[in-house]
Amino acid sequence: MRELELLSHIYRSNPALPAGVTIPPGDDMGAVLLGGATVLVTVDQVADGVHFDLATTPIEKIARKAITRNLSDVAAMAAKPVGAVAAACLPKGFGEDKAKTLFDAMHATAEQFNCPLIGGDISMWDQRLILTVTIFAEPDGIDPVLRSGAQVGDVIYVTGKLGASLITTDDPPGYTHHLDFTPRIALARKLAVNSAIRPHAMIDLSDGLALDLPRICEQSNVCAELDTNNLPISHAAHLAAQRSGQPAWQHAMGDGEDYELCFTAPPGSPSIMPAEIDGVPITQIGTIVAQHPGPVVTVRLPDGTLADTASLGWEHKG
Ligand SMILES: [Mg+2]
Repeated sequence: MRELELLSHIYRSNPALPAGVTIPPGDDMGAVLLGGATVLVTVDQVADGVHFDLATTPIEKIARKAITRNLSDVAAMAAKPVGAVAAACLPKGFGEDKAKTLFDAMHATAEQFNCPLIGGDISMWDQRLILTVTIFAEPDGIDPVLRSGAQVGDVIYVTGKLGASLITTDDPPGYTHHLDFTPRIALARKLAVNSAIRPHAMIDLSDGLALDLPRICEQSNVCAELDTNNLPISHAAHLAAQRSGQPAWQHAMGDGEDYELCFTAPPGSPSIMPAEIDGVPITQIGTIVAQHPGPVVTVRLPDGTLADTASLGWEHKG
């Protein structure tokens, strides 16, 4: 069973949610009312052999990623992190020193983003390393931005540059985006607090633009058109294109683990949207259009012809 099908099965099995659930399943974080206050929550897991390779990745970077992946979901809501808890399944023989290094690095990363690690659990087993992190967040004066708010005519933007996040580059030396990225929390909150440019809908790019933009469209009941000529393509994606023979824009759309933000904002936003915030570029890549029976996302290729994400090899399911 595919992950997304399984998740939607879980959501369907709980259709009647109480009023205290203010953001239901299907967004980057859920939210509940606790004592009258909105508390957002997300949980995420990284596993050796799936999200990192323990044999070749420093433990500190694995620990960092376990925290920052979750913080990227906090950014997608424009929320403010409050605290985190972490659980680790350590392979037998992992060793106490490495376990301390792992939790020290999770602590340090969490502190760096004002999201202290307030609890955890460790078990040993005879399989590979798994880390599970839950993060709590609060609106702190800024209404969370949902996936469901995109409107026809909205302009679609992405932050940063996309593609080939697994490739280590020399810019800066040793930088590997999927391990070293900065969750865009501060940027998201600067966008969302400004009513002139506040996103209508937002998601963080974990599976890649080709799969994540359709999630905004589905939740908002709209379609999207994007232009590959406008995509901000990373240095790593150009390197990947040289090696793979595929166009760099395909790496930018499909490689995943960019942990940048994709958001939509009103039609008048291009004249007021900053070109960058805190040094992170903000790029206009397309437009939200009315829902139609055809593909959810239509892509204008470099030669001007039109295609859709499914025909390009990205099958979106749920
Ligand atoms: Mg997400």
